[in-house]
Amino acid sequence: MFLDLFFPNRCLACEEIISANTILCDICEEKLSFSHFKFDSENPLAQKAKLLFPIEQAYALFIFKEENLAQNLLHRLKYGDQEFIGKHFAHWIFDKIKITEIDEIVSVPLHPKKLKRRGYNQLTLFGNELSKLYKIPINHQLLKRNFHNKAQAQKDKQHRTETESLFSVIENPENKHILLIDDVYTTGNTLASIAWEILKHPNTKVSILVVAMD
Ligand SMILES: [Zn+2]
Repeated sequence: MFLDLFFPNRCLACEEIISANTILCDICEEKLSFSHFKFDSENPLAQKAKLLFPIEQAYALFIFKEENLAQNLLHRLKYGDQEFIGKHFAHWIFDKIKITEIDEIVSVPLHPKKLKRRGYNQLTLFGNELSKLYKIPINHQLLKRNFHNKAQAQKDKQHRTETESLFSVIENPENKHILLIDDVYTTGNTLASIAWEILKHPNTKVSILVVAMD
């Protein structure tokens, strides 16, 4: 409280002074392009993802429209060293949807090199907070990213066998319903490659949750 006098909490969008534990004032929060989806198999994200891989349920908190505030927040989370924003995304989600029948939350890993450069995985705090709120365990050990990025993957293609993929599942996910979380759903290729790796194992199911879809 004392510190508030000197360093008041300000809205990330308009700099209005706001109460602690929030990141936007009410007016700016109103402007966020929330999807109003349910966590189900029918919403537009679920429809899109189902073309690439079998999913149970899907959810996106935001829909990106051109240059909007949600996009700006996500950009800050990813590149602006503002990892705390992930926590607020988790709280918005918790206010909006029920998540049931999930055994484990799993986030898309960064390649260690990228992790070192950025200093954090933008999904870690977000995922941990979701895990805490929904009381569903999070597993940071299930996946390993094999290649730095797509270009690297292409380049390394000559040196690896055809069966090797972008991600490896390094723990057995047998009999589990996994909720894969990522920041943005664009082509869906990343989540699809992970989902197919998981679904190779007996009696597994995959659902997806992203901060935003475009
Ligand atoms: Zn504001």
